[in-house]
Amino acid sequence: MNAAATEALIGVINAGSSSLKFSFYEGERRILGGQVDGIGAHPAASATGPAGEKIAPPDLGAKPPTVPSEVLPAILPWARDKLGDRRLAAVGHRVVHGGLRYSRPARVTPELLAELEALVPLAPLHEPYNLAPIKMAMTLNPELPQVACFDTAFHRTAPDVEQAFALPYSFYEEGIRRYGFHGLSYEYIASVLPERAPEIANGRVVVAHLGNGCSACGMRDRVSIASTMGFTALDGLPMGTRCGELDAGVVLYLLQQKGMSADEVTELLYRRSGMLGLSGVSSDFRELLSSDNPRARFAVDVFCHSVARHIASLAVALGGLDGVVFTAGVGENAAPVRAAICRACSWLGLELDETANRENRERVSTPGSKVAAYVIRTDENLMIARHARALLGS
Ligand code: ADP
Repeated sequence: MNAAATEALIGVINAGSSSLKFSFYEGERRILGGQVDGIGAHPAASATGPAGEKIAPPDLGAKPPTVPSEVLPAILPWARDKLGDRRLAAVGHRVVHGGLRYSRPARVTPELLAELEALVPLAPLHEPYNLAPIKMAMTLNPELPQVACFDTAFHRTAPDVEQAFALPYSFYEEGIRRYGFHGLSYEYIASVLPERAPEIANGRVVVAHLGNGCSACGMRDRVSIASTMGFTALDGLPMGTRCGELDAGVVLYLLQQKGMSADEVTELLYRRSGMLGLSGVSSDFRELLSSDNPRARFAVDVFCHSVARHIASLAVALGGLDGVVFTAGVGENAAPVRAAICRACSWLGLELDETANRENRERVSTPGSKVAAYVIRTDENLMIARHARALLGS
């Protein structure tokens, strides 16, 4: 048997409010993966094998899961069956918030879980869904190490002036500050830049993670200096259903003048705003780009304008700009969106290669462009697997 076949495997769980994605890695190679969507309504599972081919997914049983963590009792035996006698060394979990303390992944202990529970109010719509599968996995298999990987961790290097809101200083000390998210995606991009975009890897780069959730990160020498996301994953760029940057006065107006409750405002800002709210058509960029409804066009225009504006703002934080990297569903696939953003950044020295962009090539700026532009596929789950493996030293 060769060494790779006996290498211990790492599982990865990435849980949201109604979905759970799972992967199993042998080194850098994903040998099993899948997801369960529609949990709480009509759960549906799908799975892929080593070559990305469709395979029979875990059987969710007669009593469908009502929350994502309830999927784990189906996934673990399914994976064990597929993986045979190969050893699962650990499971890595995506955890949105690591607070002030966690600038790197950590092995989960009951003490750590209690600390993370205390952070739930900072990310009420994400953190509980991240923690529940960890607790479930610990109950199902107490011997199996669980590793928490935080989306805030990569940004803990941002300077104080980037982290501070201009509220009384005691709020800053208490932890009401700009954290930034999507850190696992940015860390993955940072890890591949030397190979994929060597001329900008050690320079000043803005990475735009444009998916259902959207943010951008300014990196110098592959270290995070600034992020568009703030205290929560609501700030910065407009998103599928989240508003992004918003005058805090609007929230006060909604509460005081329109008599909305805090729950109603939360629902509005997280689930009924962004592309969905502006367009009235969809939160999904594929639908927006193929729609002839003028409001769909308007929503995309607002989005591209905002991304370009934030790239310029991050360039100030970086003291200049050498490159822009587009990633995640929209950044990797939506050529018209990239084109509009790049055109709005032409004054910064970014010259788009229209053909390369249309063809979704990796480098989408002209050879003479002062600021390079790249499209690089992100892989948050691989980043989690790397962290879990490194932490266990296996
Ligand atoms: P998540 O943040 O949930 O991981 P993704 O990174 O998968 O989301 O991004 C989802 C977004 O990517 C959706 O708005 C989807 O429409 C968009 N997208 C995916 N493929 C394309 C495509 N070929 N053209 C335009 N948009 C796309």
